[in-house]
Amino acid sequence: MSNDIIHKSHLIADAANMPDYEQARTSFSWEEEQSLLDGLPNGKLSIAHEAIDRHVQEGMGDRLAIRWIAKDGMRLDFTYLNLQRQTARFANVLRRLGVQKGARVYTLLGRKPELYITALGTLKAGCVFCPMFSAFGPEPVQSRMEIGGAQVLVTSKALYRRKVKSIRDRLPDLTHILLIDGEEDNTENLISLMDTAADTFTTEPTDPEDIALLHFTSGTTGKPKGAVHVHQAVVAHHATGRMVLDLRAGDTYWCTADPGWVTGTSYGIIAPLTIGATMIIDEAEFDPERWYSILEDEQVNVWYTAPTAIRMLMKAGDAMAKAHSFPHLRFMASVGEPLNPEAVIWGNEQFGMPFHDNWWQTETGGIMIANYASMDVKPGSMGKPLPGINAGIVETGEDGLREVTTPLAIGELALRPGWPSMMRGYLHEEARYQKAFRDGWYLSGDLAMRDSDGYYWFVGRSDDVIKSAGHLIGPFEVESALMEHDAVAEVAVIGIPDETVGEIVKAYVALKPGVVGDDDLLLDLRGFARKRLGPAVAPKEIVFRKNLPKTRSGKIMRRLLKARELGLPEGDISTLESDEQ
Ligand code: ATP
Ligand code: MG
Repeated sequence: MSNDIIHKSHLIADAANMPDYEQARTSFSWEEEQSLLDGLPNGKLSIAHEAIDRHVQEGMGDRLAIRWIAKDGMRLDFTYLNLQRQTARFANVLRRLGVQKGARVYTLLGRKPELYITALGTLKAGCVFCPMFSAFGPEPVQSRMEIGGAQVLVTSKALYRRKVKSIRDRLPDLTHILLIDGEEDNTENLISLMDTAADTFTTEPTDPEDIALLHFTSGTTGKPKGAVHVHQAVVAHHATGRMVLDLRAGDTYWCTADPGWVTGTSYGIIAPLTIGATMIIDEAEFDPERWYSILEDEQVNVWYTAPTAIRMLMKAGDAMAKAHSFPHLRFMASVGEPLNPEAVIWGNEQFGMPFHDNWWQTETGGIMIANYASMDVKPGSMGKPLPGINAGIVETGEDGLREVTTPLAIGELALRPGWPSMMRGYLHEEARYQKAFRDGWYLSGDLAMRDSDGYYWFVGRSDDVIKSAGHLIGPFEVESALMEHDAVAEVAVIGIPDETVGEIVKAYVALKPGVVGDDDLLLDLRGFARKRLGPAVAPKEIVFRKNLPKTRSGKIMRRLLKARELGLPEGDISTLESDEQ
């Protein structure tokens, strides 16, 4: 745990505009947040209305909603009015195909404009939107569509051929496959359907508790769960976008999350649009030079990204960052994995402001714990619970659950349910859902601690925490210490069973480009870790790898490294992305 603090005063010129954290906490109410939305008559609520129609009705139809950047650099702009018309066409297409309210509409697409039109058009029609990672193979595509009872799939010709054609017969509920770029056997051409559809549609007056979204978890710890979210969630997306990301109407905002997971929807579609911002969408895969150019050329004000991407930017070297300037950038945030203190400080050096780490899960639907713009940042800490969110550190024993209030005591991170974006269930897994609640708490499955200033520190997922010679060791702490070494780009740490001490700490290290992983470096790294962490916590074993096994959402799959180490089955690896020895 680092003792550094980056004080708010020299971060953000107008941080004063942000509500004071303590003040916001005492005056906050979800009812008031709800009243900031437009709503529909008779207590109805629709995410699509709040994201699009509302702005058009209020005279903001000409504002840019989306700037899409194609792989080749071509720009395509959608105003809020364009988006209203396109999503109306999509909703009309659904109706023409006989698709009714409540039906599940899936996407298997990269960052294409059609993905965003499908998402919002689906919600407009009162149907349920479920995105899938475009990199999924046929198996994970099939299982997710089976679980959710997919009725419609929007995809491309190439993805259809590679991933859907072979499994189609096994999905009797899937009545329509719409291709964004042509036609194949047994599919329909979305473009021609859209061309002949009317561009007005009365948004379905959904109930706040009607299902809107189905999101599968990242599968980091095992088989992904299908978390069910309702229209009411928009209250939290709107509130947290404003309070945590400091998003304001008219801002240019870039969320780099893959659209296949929850961040891509909550903060890659809903929060920015309900606030009236302009979203940048880049079709291409990560590339450091391209990313710096987008931040600069598009004059991005608010940037929401992830630790893996930040670590890759760090790996690309400071000179690349220094060749650009970012006078418009006002706020940077990170989510998805613990953010090493090293990365927070690096951000502060390169951009003049730190990355603001925040914590949440597919289940919580929106940000729960965060470093605020108006708060001192402690690098390596997730920050404090949001206004409207009650968090605690708890211990579960046989006699029930106990809240632990001693500063820095490690326990499970738990939340008091009751915020609008909380999941309403795991689809078809009632028992698994019930197991997540106890004595009035929702149990996150992550271990954390709280310091005497009320900041929360991530320790590890409960499954990943290492018990060695009576110590409880969080992999994140060990990883962060190794990250401070100049040669290191990324680290994953696991525990390996050991007869004498219970478990020993093993680290897998990916090096920066051009660095040779020889015995000298190994020795140096060992010494480096022992000096920083002490002999009890420092890794006993260190091995070099080309990269680390990660999920599509960029999370290190420590359980996979462990299973291999122990010769156990690899389990569900449907979301596995990079994985080179
Ligand atoms: P599964 O539940 O299927 O194993 P997952 O938990 O990785 O997958 P997500 O809901 O996408 O699926 O990820 C949420 C998890 O990501 C959190 O529970 C936490 O472990 C991790 N996480 C997210 N943000 C942070 C953060 N800022 N700091 C530390 N960990 C984070
Ligand atoms: Mg999880």
